[in-house]
Amino acid sequence: EHGSTRNNEDERKGRVPLAVGLKNKKNKRVLITGGAGFVGSHLVDRLMERGDNVIVVDNYFTGRKENVIHHIGNPNFELIRHDVVEPILLEVDQIYHLACPASPVHYKFNPVKTIKTNVVGTLNMLGLAKRVGARFLLTSTSEVYGDPLQHPQAETYWGNVNPIGVRSCYDEGKRVAETLAMDYHRGAGIEVRIARIFNTYGPRMCIDDGRVVSNFVAQALRKEPLTVYGDGKQTRSFQYVSDLVEGLMRLMEGEHVGPFNLGNPGEFTMLELAQVVQETIDTNAKIEFRPNTEDDPHKRKPDISKAKELLGWQPSVSLREGLPLMVSDFRQRLFGDSKGNGG
Ligand code: NAD
Ligand code: UDP
Ligand code: UDP
Repeated sequence: EHGSTRNNEDERKGRVPLAVGLKNKKNKRVLITGGAGFVGSHLVDRLMERGDNVIVVDNYFTGRKENVIHHIGNPNFELIRHDVVEPILLEVDQIYHLACPASPVHYKFNPVKTIKTNVVGTLNMLGLAKRVGARFLLTSTSEVYGDPLQHPQAETYWGNVNPIGVRSCYDEGKRVAETLAMDYHRGAGIEVRIARIFNTYGPRMCIDDGRVVSNFVAQALRKEPLTVYGDGKQTRSFQYVSDLVEGLMRLMEGEHVGPFNLGNPGEFTMLELAQVVQETIDTNAKIEFRPNTEDDPHKRKPDISKAKELLGWQPSVSLREGLPLMVSDFRQRLFGDSKGNGG
């Protein structure tokens, strides 16, 4: 009683006892691995806005300093060139573990390195979380469902993944990363959070990363034909990056381990996507068919009931709303003289 009255009085006068100030401090120390990448850099922006102390660890394999350059010089921001496959000592309250190439072209480039990043990199970041008692969020992927036999995919589905295929370094790597996270949770009491992210697009994507949205947008802007792989009837569900970042933050701050699907349930065939890109950029853009890649999943659409119910989250930006925002960023980076911060 008495204590709480005094605290309120102290608070009104701006006098907060040091111990309380440290324990309840609003400004968290947050580590973002892969924070110079596409998704990571948007997350950095949101956390910096909130007043957190943000440390980015990135080896610049697919990320770029330009993505976070607007924070350099801010005392709340620190950028460290480091490969998560090597151990590192840091003191933080939360770890968003994103470091891992996400585009098939990038993760197939050096598959063994992709596995090491997912397995050894995740192990190191969990070891770090254990040492300092930090909360740990893993950005897993819808790829853990493989070429799914259940549609749409709910978190309870165990997946249909080829363990020896060209995508396995990523799919199986992320599956092991999820396993590691759960074993550190059960064995060492680490607070973990697992997000299964579905295809995400937006400003700052690598222009030539080979992913379908970046390919189509860059192709239409360069007046090249849109390359549709296979018959174009395979489906994906495309989420705008700000929706994902909101979901990741809610998951981190919430009380549930997950896994949680984070994606936009709006499902498009690749031909339909090509059409939306034509409508957005150039109605005269041609379509060219190319042979499809190996083990390409036929369908993908998230069941997001769990995130809706437990995180109060659902995406709010449709493909037709989000695409123009990405197009103006790509236009600037391809043709403009701007620095290309992408927003
Ligand atoms: P991205 O390639 O833009 O970002 C990944 C970042 O990690 C890059 O900055 C890269 O340099 C860094 N990185 C890679 N290997 C590293 C290593 N060994 N050590 C340190 N840094 C390393 O990809 P993104 O789209 O921003 O994806 C971020 C995370 O979200 C990834 O874990 C990815 O698997 C996951 N994810 C993304 C999508 C999507 O559609 N974008 C979908 C599912 C899951
Ligand atoms: N680790 C790290 N930073 C830390 C603590 C641990 O990079 O602050 C690494 C450590 O080098 C090890 C991994 O995380 O390779 C797992 O650590 P843990 O303590 O769980 O296991 P152990 O060291 O006993 O194998
Ligand atoms: N795709 C396509 N044209 C491209 C690039 C990709 O038709 O220029 C197809 C690809 O075959 C796949 C879908 O688009 O069916 C999504 O591919 P992406 O590499 O973007 O992501 P993922 O396969 O990881 O979902």
